[in-house]
Amino acid sequence: SPVRYVRDVGEITAQYEVLEKIGSGGFSTVARARERASLREVAIKVVDKTKYAAGDVSFEREVEVLSGIRHPNVVELYATYVTERNVFMVCELVRGGELLERVSQAGSFTEDEARVVITQVLRAVAHMHAHNVVHRDLKLENILLSDERDARGRSGAVKLIDFGLARFREANAPLRTICGSPLYIAPEILELETSANEEQCYSTACDMWSVGVILFALLSGYSPFDHEDEAQLYQNIRNGIYHLEPGVWDFISNPAKSLVAGLLETDPKERLSAEQALAHEWIVAAGAGATTVS
Ligand code: ADP
Ligand code: MG
Repeated sequence: SPVRYVRDVGEITAQYEVLEKIGSGGFSTVARARERASLREVAIKVVDKTKYAAGDVSFEREVEVLSGIRHPNVVELYATYVTERNVFMVCELVRGGELLERVSQAGSFTEDEARVVITQVLRAVAHMHAHNVVHRDLKLENILLSDERDARGRSGAVKLIDFGLARFREANAPLRTICGSPLYIAPEILELETSANEEQCYSTACDMWSVGVILFALLSGYSPFDHEDEAQLYQNIRNGIYHLEPGVWDFISNPAKSLVAGLLETDPKERLSAEQALAHEWIVAAGAGATTVS
């Protein structure tokens, strides 16, 4: 999708009518808007470049990475406008809200509902990893539910958003930056903090850990790693220690537990890849269960 450099925001509002604010993060605001020519509604993510440290141009990477990905489960970037102060990313509008809200409302998902969501997340992640893209910020807030229905009338389409921390994994540029949300961060990223080994780095497997945290939360309604004391939280993550509440997990199938364990595997070499997870019995043996997310 094209990147246009414009002098002032008037050139953007001439093309899009801004309707309402629908989200925000540390360095960005997201608005619902309408493209005047087509009347199509879009989401515009406005990044404030001045909030980044001098020389930090990671917002450029978000545009670069996202414009290189086309997948039904990844939000589509239509166009980008850049002013001196801001980057405006005009994206596909996803109307069903964040997965986080849905889990908070529902308490937890049934296995069939969780499977519908996780299968699509895995397809998106497999596609990204095949193209050497690491997302690094997979979490319930960065997964949106579409209100679209497919040809068979099924709802529950899932879209990954927020490529603000995404990177191309290149052989000559190992990933060493410690980043991501504490609740979803993979143990090998935490190891970097204490490791003296300059050669040490991490890779696409860090996303699979986060998918494990997401699946755990969908099935049970709580986070596997959650501790008021940050040092204790990180120690639990490093050791892969999480608590399976009997009243919750007694009712969850063994294949589901096995997939969770395969993703929340502390050794990134032993952890399931996206392709392996897609072939896992819990994913493929879907049977005739429900296929919608209510
Ligand atoms: P940040 O990098 O600041 O976290 P995000 O890209 O995650 O920004 O967007 C912040 C929030 O805005 C999201 O969690 C979501 O609620 C909303 N949002 C972002 N993109 C879209 C979109 N394409 N459609 C609908 N809502 C969106
Ligand atoms: Mg976000």
